[in-house]
Amino acid sequence: MTARFHADLALVPGSSVSLPDQTARHVQVLRLQPGDHITLFNGAGEGGGIGEGEFDATIEHMGRSDVRAMVGAYTATRRETDRAVHLALGMPANERMDWLIEKATELGAASIQPLMSERSVLRIKGERADKKLAHWRGVAVAACEQCGRNRLPAIREVMGLGDWLKAQAGQTAGVTQDSAEAVGTRLLLSLQAGTRPLAQAVANTGALTFLSGPEGGLSPAEEAAAIACGFVPVTLGPRVLRAETAPLACLSLLMLASAL
Ligand code: SAM
Repeated sequence: MTARFHADLALVPGSSVSLPDQTARHVQVLRLQPGDHITLFNGAGEGGGIGEGEFDATIEHMGRSDVRAMVGAYTATRRETDRAVHLALGMPANERMDWLIEKATELGAASIQPLMSERSVLRIKGERADKKLAHWRGVAVAACEQCGRNRLPAIREVMGLGDWLKAQAGQTAGVTQDSAEAVGTRLLLSLQAGTRPLAQAVANTGALTFLSGPEGGLSPAEEAAAIACGFVPVTLGPRVLRAETAPLACLSLLMLASAL
């Protein structure tokens, strides 16, 4: 696989483009030279439509601050899980959230909704939240460049769990089930008694949204609010998985089911 770069701009075969600053810096770090082939993707299909694909490109000019490339042929790819899987996460603290976003991107998450709940250690808002969000989006871009995904997962703005559940309650199933925005079947990862095994709960479903708690878990009141909002409690088995492990276990199950 030639070196891959996300470029947030229109990519049209036969056109010459000046790469965005971040992409240009990445190309420079790799000491690529004019004539070298690279792969560019912008998260959309050909001509910006729905779908996913990538473009062959050739470095034309390596300047101190600008890098130009000639966009070549487009190749449609199929590297997404066969259904939209959305994660809503009681954020784990510190660098664990970076690690979770990187792994969730590799495992095919369609979107990641960072949440603050009653027992959240990581509490951010305003400018600090904006900086974290930009950093996490960069983590997702780097993970796509590494793993070959051409569609970036949506990393959503940090919200309080209560506000997010209210917004969920307002979401109708009207969004078509195969669209990346479909919330689909809502599952609550829960350690409480009375849950269903995950494999059973996802059988014969389409898009999925998983809600999981932070290190301290969701409070009983929060779990009850999620259930009232249509989330079905499911178990991942008898062991207590870390806040960053549980959602990844769900993605892994669905990725393998999709690949089989
Ligand atoms: N002490 C916390 C409690 O008892 O809730 C543990 C929380 S656990 C570290 C973080 C989150 O991962 C939980 O809120 C839950 O969403 C999910 N989780 C961990 N293990 C799980 C399991 N075996 N089944 C379902 N969800 C699990």
